[in-house]
Amino acid sequence: MHDFILAKEIIDELKTIVAEKKLDQVKKVNVEIGMIHLAHDGHPEHTEDISVENLQFGLASIAKNTAFEKVEFAIKKMAGEHWKITDIEV
Ligand SMILES: [Zn+2]
Repeated sequence: MHDFILAKEIIDELKTIVAEKKLDQVKKVNVEIGMIHLAHDGHPEHTEDISVENLQFGLASIAKNTAFEKVEFAIKKMAGEHWKITDIEV
């Protein structure tokens, strides 16, 4: 579940950065992910580990039929309870 919520957050963040920096065609996005702390579906906040595979699938599903459809997402696991876009290649 966190993989899909996170995928949506990453795409939203990407949209913001692309608009701010007026980037053209994005080719590759590097993302680092840790354990993700979230509240969803009536559950209180909790932490879940996210598999890179599931997140790739979530990102591909959400990016489908958008300007980010062909973007390659390079996902790296890291320690901690957050995530960040570390680099965008155009
Ligand atoms: Zn959860």
